[in-house]
Amino acid sequence: MNGALLAVNAVSKLFGGFVALADVSLTVRSGERLGIIGPNGSGKSTLINCIGGSLGTDSGSIWLSGADVTLLPAHRRARLGIARTFQVPRPFASMTLAENIAVPLEYVTHRKSLHRSDVAAQAHAILAQIGLGGRADASPASLTQVDLRKLELARALASRPRLLILDEVMAGLSAIEVDEMLAILLALNREGIAIVMIEHIMRAIMRFSERVICLDAGRILAHGAPAQIVEDRDVQRIYLGD
Ligand code: ADP
Ligand code: MG
Repeated sequence: MNGALLAVNAVSKLFGGFVALADVSLTVRSGERLGIIGPNGSGKSTLINCIGGSLGTDSGSIWLSGADVTLLPAHRRARLGIARTFQVPRPFASMTLAENIAVPLEYVTHRKSLHRSDVAAQAHAILAQIGLGGRADASPASLTQVDLRKLELARALASRPRLLILDEVMAGLSAIEVDEMLAILLALNREGIAIVMIEHIMRAIMRFSERVICLDAGRILAHGAPAQIVEDRDVQRIYLGD
């Protein structure tokens, strides 16, 4: 666990009697790009929820930069540098895009230390970074699917994460939009943000990931380099099909 940005240590999660995660262990290094794949219902979102803190674990522990965060609530983990997107984007519908970014910005930086004009400037800078620079005063209701996904990403970036976890941010996007999103994510990674990408689009996983983990029924079925994972017999059998 030493030296890892994130360490998930033998985490299990039950819903009633149903085992959603069974003894899952993984690490993410600082600045790394990790892909997570697996069939629907294999526990991918549950794993993110446990890492982000919106769900508690039933056993095991979660460590960020050597500190045990297992019992910390989600907002405390956000301040320590973990940010995640939700599979279904959750913007504040009555606010502009800039205001949507200002909320997490002010929260994480402890509002008082930041002037209003600084918040606005930083919100605009984040929107520009992900290609929504011209839409700062727009309403989320006016956004296309791809721009809603970008807004979800911008909201996560506003907490200035060291670790960004993406839950199917590319679902429903066209091939061109997937490429655009990949370029944005690779640029963020080059700035030093470690990224965990949960995704069904194998082309995106293959291009993006340095390592890939495949979950099945709440367990890690396979783990390795992208080229290894696509050749893995078990992964082909339960996920990639024929
Ligand atoms: P994935 O993201 O890989 O599709 P999930 O983590 O969403 O899978 O779900 C894993 C399993 O846990 C599924 O069988 C799902 O129905 C179940 N599950 C997820 N969240 C809950 C919950 N809050 N209550 C009960 N069961 C849940
Ligand atoms: Mg999911």
